[in-house]
Amino acid sequence: MALSNSQYAKIMRDYEERQNATRLLHDERLNEIILKIPEYKILEDEAIEASMKYARSALLNSKEENSVDSPEELRAKIDLIAKQKTLLLEKNGYPGDYLKPVYTCPDCRDTGYIGNEKCHCFKQAIVDLLYSQSNIKEVLKQENFKNFSMDLFSKDDIDPVSNFSSYELMSEALRKAKEFVRKFPHSHENLFFSGKAGLGKTFLSHCIADELLKRGFTVLYLSAPELFDILRNEMISKKGDDQHSTELGRYVITCDLLIIDDLGSEPTTEFTVSELNTCINERLLGGHSTIISSNLDPSQIRDYYGERNFSRIAGLYTFCRFYGTDIRLLKKYTAV
Ligand SMILES: [Zn+2]
Repeated sequence: MALSNSQYAKIMRDYEERQNATRLLHDERLNEIILKIPEYKILEDEAIEASMKYARSALLNSKEENSVDSPEELRAKIDLIAKQKTLLLEKNGYPGDYLKPVYTCPDCRDTGYIGNEKCHCFKQAIVDLLYSQSNIKEVLKQENFKNFSMDLFSKDDIDPVSNFSSYELMSEALRKAKEFVRKFPHSHENLFFSGKAGLGKTFLSHCIADELLKRGFTVLYLSAPELFDILRNEMISKKGDDQHSTELGRYVITCDLLIIDDLGSEPTTEFTVSELNTCINERLLGGHSTIISSNLDPSQIRDYYGERNFSRIAGLYTFCRFYGTDIRLLKKYTAV
């Protein structure tokens, strides 16, 4: 599953549309300002004239015959006009940056590239396109730290294994999740969420994904069966004529954060055991963080995925235990 020409063209078209929208917004705002503040037009014309003179003098690398200003003087004049324009906007009740372009991604100014390198927003666009994560964006509008409520976790429901209440375990998991986000990506930390279904493991991974996507990192969110499907396709395409990794196969290993949801829900085979090991190891070697959530507890990880996977996870993942009543049921009852 590589990025086809038409998929590439689609991403580039999206960037073009974004650039057009930015230009349109700027033009609309400029017209509005010129109508309301006629002096602004005078400054704008002066700025254009000075910029053209500057460009010409820089090109000729000398004073123009008719020009009295050196390139340095022209540069200073351009800067002064820019300041005067900002002050004029502010004096008239507008934000000083009202006419600065509003980019969706300021890092690449909505071009998709920084130099010759694809910008992080381009990489995420590929991830989104290759793997239809369209609905995760919708999910993240609901499932984020802002909407996280500790009220659903009981202080009286005590976990017989750890002796902590459901509330205490969740507070601790929440603290670790926030710390993970705060230190990302420098700590190269990995998390393992263990507990039955419906206790908030997926919600908490969504909270983390939401924060990191907002900060411009590439996040790939996959259920365990989806992950192994991709790795299986990857193996097939490598055996065939095409010796290269698929785009998605590459991102499984190189994206900033990989979230594997519900490990253990897929049928475990020799293939899944060895591929999980490769995936975990390669991501560790690359310094990329991984979050695994699973209904299995660590001892079951040893049974299902063998000693090597177990020792990696036990040694290099921060463990969070979840315990309590299915919050999806609880929400349903409290909503009635
Ligand atoms: Zn960008």
